[in-house]
Amino acid sequence: MTEVSVAKEDEAATGDLVVLKSVNKHFGALHVLQDIDLTIARGEVVVVIGPSGSGKSTLCRTINRLETIDSGSITIDGKPLPAEGKALAKLRADVGMVFQSFNLFAHKTVLENVTLGQVKVRKKDKKEAEERARALLDRVGVAAQADKYPAQLSGGQQQRVAIARALAMEPKVMLFDEPTSALDPEMINEVLEVMQQLARDGMTMIVVTHEMGFARSAANRVVFMADGRIVEQATPDQFFSNPRSDRAKDFLSKIL
Ligand code: ADP
Ligand code: MG
Repeated sequence: MTEVSVAKEDEAATGDLVVLKSVNKHFGALHVLQDIDLTIARGEVVVVIGPSGSGKSTLCRTINRLETIDSGSITIDGKPLPAEGKALAKLRADVGMVFQSFNLFAHKTVLENVTLGQVKVRKKDKKEAEERARALLDRVGVAAQADKYPAQLSGGQQQRVAIARALAMEPKVMLFDEPTSALDPEMINEVLEVMQQLARDGMTMIVVTHEMGFARSAANRVVFMADGRIVEQATPDQFFSNPRSDRAKDFLSKIL
């Protein structure tokens, strides 16, 4: 793998990177996020698990402001989320997001997918952006696919390109919302391995996943959500061996 830095160089900085305080969000009558307090330290890997409909995706989407919140506050690196305009585009670059569906630009090549945002949002020159893109594609193991279009790639390859595209923006934090749920089983590991490597390299990560092996080996903390609330948080060891709440016990009995 090529050496290419993925996290923003900020070695002196420590402490909390993502802070949610008393966050509430409704969809009509549905109270989808209820008094969410969540603090993620720089370099921390947090796995969010919970039943379908518990608000995990909505939580991710509020952190890069794909959804607004009704009350409470969210800060990234000490700054509140900007509402619109260039500041919002920059925030979205600071908060890399990888979705279940790969969301690549279908009419752009793999290389263009990983280059575009660097030029448009990060204002890099094209040559420099392409060099970084190629290094990142190599890092996630798809360098040979650079000139292909997304539809010519397997799901696992597309998802790795999506990760490279987010990393190209030098994000402060990466959000993954069920990144392997849409993949054929034989492709899940190749994506999880890239995520494992990122975690080892010190990237701050919030990962919604049902992959408990990943949670056990990569997470510093497991956050269990149900019905729009954080029901419990613990280290993976504590959570999987000794869940405290009945909701978590019930959930684990169904998936493990
Ligand atoms: P999870 O990711 O944990 O499965 P979601 O955050 O996707 O949960 O959804 C939480 C709840 O909010 C669900 O009941 C879902 O139907 C509802 N919901 C999600 N997005 C919207 C939306 N845009 N409009 C209305 N309801 C929504
Ligand atoms: Mg979801």
